[in-house]
Amino acid sequence: MTFVSLGLIDPLLRTLEQLDYRTPTPVQLKAIPAVLKGRDVVVAAQTGTGKTAGFTLPLLQRLLQEGAPVASNSLRALVLVPTRELAEQVHESVRRYASGLPLHSYAVYGGVSINPQMMALRKGVDVLVATPGRLLDLYRQNAIRFERLQILVLDEADRMLDLGFARELDELFCALPRKRQTLLFSATFSDAIRTLAGELLRDPLSIET
Ligand code: AMP
Repeated sequence: MTFVSLGLIDPLLRTLEQLDYRTPTPVQLKAIPAVLKGRDVVVAAQTGTGKTAGFTLPLLQRLLQEGAPVASNSLRALVLVPTRELAEQVHESVRRYASGLPLHSYAVYGGVSINPQMMALRKGVDVLVATPGRLLDLYRQNAIRFERLQILVLDEADRMLDLGFARELDELFCALPRKRQTLLFSATFSDAIRTLAGELLRDPLSIET
């Protein structure tokens, strides 16, 4: 199997060639075609499996193909992650996979001043990587609007619950449009994760590798 046969378009294929990614990992093999078709997916995957490219590549392609412009204080895709470190790391990957594409990404997390983040969000972003606590602060201060959100990704969902983000997540999810695509990635599947998946995803494809 190659990335071409998974249905990825030329600009992304060229980036993968430059990165010397020759064959998709098992997670990518299953997740990329499903996400491209618009399906919700729940994926059991550890770090190091290539899961970040597994959700980012098809997410970028869907944003490119939808073509809807960003609006002020809005976002089109949201990647929720448990920690600041992961936010920086995932954002770095998003930038790498989106290089050369007309898509703008940004990351917000706690532990740093909120004002520059509020300024940066003003013109809107295509892909926002965020930790739940800081995103909720920004939302409460009207610095972010969710009406145009098309795709939600929960990365390391089990760690988000372990770190005590359940309340923040609930409040955020209430503010999100119901009509959207949702992708949930988790290393482990507790009852709490299954419940969360049941509430957030519609007819999801379960992917185990
Ligand atoms: P991740 O699990 O998404 O954090 O990815 C782990 C590492 O694998 C990262 O350093 C990626 O750059 C790399 N990677 C992801 N997918 C591929 C692939 N298909 N071929 C080669 N390297 C990859």
